[in-house]
Amino acid sequence: MTKLYTARWILPDASSLIESGAVAIEASQVIAVGSRDELVSQFPKAPVRDFGEAAILPGFVNAHSHLELTAMRGYLEREEADFFSWLRKLTIARLERMTLDDLYVSAAWGAIEAARAGVTCVGDASDAASTSMRALSDVGLRGIVYQESFGPNPAEARENLDKLREKVARLREHETELVNIGVSPHAPYSVSGSQLELIADLANTEKLPLMMHAAESEAESLFMREGHGPFAEGLARRGIGWRAPGISTIQYLARHGILQTSPLLAHCIRVDDADLETIKEADAKIAHCPKSNAKLGHGRAPFADFVEKGIKVGFGSDSVASNNNCDMIEEARFAILTARGTVGVSSTGQKLNAEIALEALTVGGARALSLEAQTGVLIEGAQADMTVVDLDGAHQVPLHDALAALIFSSSGRDVLMTMVAGNEVFSEGRVHTVDEDHLRARMKEILKTVTSDK
Ligand SMILES: [Zn+2]
Repeated sequence: MTKLYTARWILPDASSLIESGAVAIEASQVIAVGSRDELVSQFPKAPVRDFGEAAILPGFVNAHSHLELTAMRGYLEREEADFFSWLRKLTIARLERMTLDDLYVSAAWGAIEAARAGVTCVGDASDAASTSMRALSDVGLRGIVYQESFGPNPAEARENLDKLREKVARLREHETELVNIGVSPHAPYSVSGSQLELIADLANTEKLPLMMHAAESEAESLFMREGHGPFAEGLARRGIGWRAPGISTIQYLARHGILQTSPLLAHCIRVDDADLETIKEADAKIAHCPKSNAKLGHGRAPFADFVEKGIKVGFGSDSVASNNNCDMIEEARFAILTARGTVGVSSTGQKLNAEIALEALTVGGARALSLEAQTGVLIEGAQADMTVVDLDGAHQVPLHDALAALIFSSSGRDVLMTMVAGNEVFSEGRVHTVDEDHLRARMKEILKTVTSDK
């Protein structure tokens, strides 16, 4: 049955606007987008759902998250000044204090938060990928869950690859129309060069999307360029030898086969022109996570340069342990304002506008996950992944420009409806697919387990 969704503004993509428009949806697909009058006469029997002074847009994409860590929101504030201690405390809480069910609940709660903020598609990195996949499926979001792999000791590379391959085989059975798997060698300081090569081969032969953290912290830079700092000391304490290659992370990843997989790279803060050239040539994608980067004090990635060079870039929240929320409108605004607000940034920073923000928030994120054939724009034949944002609040009126109001005045809390593949996941203030009250209560219990050292 065809249904019509109408609103004062339709933004089918970042550069088009239809006033008094409508989107026609049948089953999981968009079948027409146009003016309200045209579509009502084209589909006279279709029920009409009108959102009034609101915008209907393609669903937002969160290109980098760790949904299973949602229980760590606010837990690591005191460790923020020291990234090594931050990671260590997180890993202990995650591995020793949370059960598989806790991880599932944590991921499902993260997916609820995402759905409520208009996110329809997620690129999630997880150590327990099957729980994240189940959480995304239960809540009804689209996404790719990248199974993480760790192992800084080259002597264990082959064994760790075998473990990853076995996990991938099991995870394949949980894939659905909406949720697929990928692989993620965690980071250059937590996975040896030989393991990176083996995982890159696996990704190429099995056609698995690959995601990796890259060029994030000063500690990582020291590790790569000089072989000093907390990561090098951490390896030395474990008796693992490390000789710094003396090059940037991006060149190191190119040397070890990762760039040949056209990976999704999260962060890319410490990159120079040659690195950006390498990224562009390899058709690698970037998940730009400006709030997480700023909160952890890692710095600011050159978003304006990514855009100027035509690199595929989407926004990521990273985990809420470092954000502390998954509000992608806020993330987009922060990306633009920090790029413009930095002293010494070239005029390209000033050119960043609401259109560029919405592009990265929607189709840019879809490209980052190589899902642009399915999602990211509202066009005939695309999957019906869409978000409706109220634009009639005290903080938005008067409204001169719907797109500017969306990016510079709105937040995820203004979302009225989130739809994935034609299914209304969130509307009328509720997520309809899971029991939010039960999961909220469980999250409060998990808090006690996670913080049991206090
Ligand atoms: Zn991350």
